[in-house]
Amino acid sequence: MARNQVQFQKGLSEAAFEAKYGTEEQCRAAVIGWRWPDGFECPGCGSRQHSMVKTRGLFQCTDCRRQTSPIAGTIFAATKLPLRTWFRTLYHMTQTKQGISSIELGRRLGVTQTTAWKLKHKLMQVMMQRDGTKKLTGRIEIDDAYMGGQRHGGKRGRGAPGKTPFVAAVETTAEGKPVRLQLRQVASFCRADIGSFAKRSLDPGCVVVSDGLRCFAGVTDAGCTHQPSKVGSGHKSVQNPTFKWVNTALGNIKAAITGTYRAIHQKHVPRYLAEFEYRFNRRYDLAAMIPRLAWASVRTVPMPYRLLKLAEVGA
Ligand SMILES: [Zn+2]
Repeated sequence: MARNQVQFQKGLSEAAFEAKYGTEEQCRAAVIGWRWPDGFECPGCGSRQHSMVKTRGLFQCTDCRRQTSPIAGTIFAATKLPLRTWFRTLYHMTQTKQGISSIELGRRLGVTQTTAWKLKHKLMQVMMQRDGTKKLTGRIEIDDAYMGGQRHGGKRGRGAPGKTPFVAAVETTAEGKPVRLQLRQVASFCRADIGSFAKRSLDPGCVVVSDGLRCFAGVTDAGCTHQPSKVGSGHKSVQNPTFKWVNTALGNIKAAITGTYRAIHQKHVPRYLAEFEYRFNRRYDLAAMIPRLAWASVRTVPMPYRLLKLAEVGA
């Protein structure tokens, strides 16, 4: 069964990870390899001729004399932490199904919770930018969901205050096997907002199945075909096989939030969604997620901490 293969795959053991990326030199060599797979290329003039400034670990261009740090302009440049700490963060963020809180990550890395939060959110930003522009195709299961706000005592269900609305969309094969997931924040569940979501996220020609929530007809604005299913609200589509995968994905997200995170501030919701989406879409090869995310990280310019954080620190 495909599902069991996902759940029981080995991933990368901590021992194998340590053997591969346990030292600063190994991490540095890996970063250089991901950044310049065909050998160093000067970001100033494009020349490949260079020498090393050994004491500072810099590449010096022979033609324009510019000195380049292998981590300058990458996400890893954003802190003064050793690369080894970044790599261990990559490990913890990708090899767990439910994610890891900044408190737990801080404990494991031996850094403060604030530092762990920064590391985590920088990498979540990489995940978001990596998948942000990809569109789903074919058969799509779609559902409405909310994140954040009060966990206990608050109003439940659609439109509860303080909660961030998002769309969960799963692309499946014609036989209904899951291919890719998208989780996207929307302003509200009205037809126009679903229309804009669909234009950004779905290929025209998608066949979108949803429950009876009327706003989902908005997907036709993006040239998609809409097939609403007549099921009641409440425990609406849980038993309905039409929505098997979107319900499974939402169930996993809910379990992860409840189990891992204390509270998620509204402005950070897109990054948390991106983290789930990234892991789900790469679930068939857990071990490869580390080099793949690292590869993207050396190609992502760090966002200033003040923009990442804005206000208080969440979980
Ligand atoms: Zn140069």
